Amino acid sequence: MSKDIYVFAEQRDGEIAKVSLELVSEATKLAKNLGQKVVAVLVGSGVKGKEAPLVESGADAVLIIDDPILKEYVTEPYTKAICKVIEAKQPEIVLYGATAIGRDLAPRIAARVHTGLTADCTRLDTSGATYLAWLESLGFQDKDKAAMFEKLTKIGITADSREFLMTRPAFGGNVMATIKCPTYRPQMATVRPGVMQRLPRDPSRKATVEEFKVAFEPKDMNVKIKEVVKSTVKSVDITEAKILVSGGRGIGAKEYFDELRKLAAVLGGEVSSSRTNVDAGWIEKDRQVGQTGKTVRPNLYVALGISGAIQHLAGMDQSDFIVAINKNDTAPIFDVADLGIIGDLKPIVPKLIEAIKKYKAK
Ligand SMILES: Cc1cc2nc3c(=O)[nH]c(=O)nc-3n(C[C@H](O)[C@H](O)[C@H](O)COP(=O)(O)OP(=O)(O)OC[C@H]3O[C@@H](n4cnc5c(N)ncnc54)[C@H](O)[C@@H]3O)c2cc1C
Repeated sequence: MSKDIYVFAEQRDGEIAKVSLELVSEATKLAKNLGQKVVAVLVGSGVKGKEAPLVESGADAVLIIDDPILKEYVTEPYTKAICKVIEAKQPEIVLYGATAIGRDLAPRIAARVHTGLTADCTRLDTSGATYLAWLESLGFQDKDKAAMFEKLTKIGITADSREFLMTRPAFGGNVMATIKCPTYRPQMATVRPGVMQRLPRDPSRKATVEEFKVAFEPKDMNVKIKEVVKSTVKSVDITEAKILVSGGRGIGAKEYFDELRKLAAVLGGEVSSSRTNVDAGWIEKDRQVGQTGKTVRPNLYVALGISGAIQHLAGMDQSDFIVAINKNDTAPIFDVADLGIIGDLKPIVPKLIEAIKKYKAK
């Protein structure tokens, strides 16, 4: 009988990835509905004693697989480690971050243990009631809503159901698809960093910590690592920024990002972008917000000359407060904005910078 929600706790040099803490936090909500526990699986070399962030973020138990073969991430030994855990513990659900490592590892495991995998989820539910409430909040015409709810009842999704529902954008982000895996276990999903909210860490939390031994053999290491070269380019993590000033095609030129940098500086934030400007080579890819960029949740998101395509909204619509400046009053960005300014951004931005400077001087 499968039980409990397992989270692959990704780490580099013993530091747990932020997405793993987000997933542990999310798993506590999912596990509560199922009356199950959250188990984090910490895999690496020298990772014993590094479990505190996982426990403080909501793990009820931590399994530690500590072996020199796991020093650097390599697909084969990591796959073996997680497959052994799945074999021995029979989890109900396993979650992975949709990072470079998670995206490599999770499909390999899915194939090996013969189960499904839903990649790049933006929403997870184990309560039919919360899922239906979310659908309702999307705003359907009454007639469409009735038909949809009837269909959902037919496939067993009701307010009382306790199935694992994995939702992700599909067909270029134009529809949201909810996927379930009724037959095979564990049910598995990857979730992009920044999508789920991390709970505040609680140092008083306690968890059971178990060492899980895997009998690795030399043949498990099917590649030879000659050298590890760390990137010296300092990349910006826009997912950590509390304030983002984001430019779209409407800014008109690469050089205009300098003006946005000034605005970001007075606000104490970072600059980000829609995909258009990244594709045009105006700004680095690590600053792209959206479905194929990063998912951000800042306290303030200022969208300048961004139309609000669904692929862009998918990466920023959970921001606490959204300000949009656009000369087209029908731009979809205004549907998610808390404050909209209709007009040409060029004269507005310098005035905004001056006004903020004056306000701060006071
Ligand atoms: C599979 C797929 C994945 C994608 N992933 C992403 C993604 O991750 N992120 C992303 O952003 N996009 C993504 N896209 C692209 C997306 O569909 C849009 O094409 C893109 O977001 C549009 O960028 P934009 O809003 O900057 O440009 P546009 O849609 O061209 O909008 C420009 C806006 O600027 C306004 N404007 C123009 N001049 C001014 C001015 N002087 N002052 C004020 N307003 C002005 C216009 O009214 C317009 O609303 C993806 C597309 C696909 C198919």
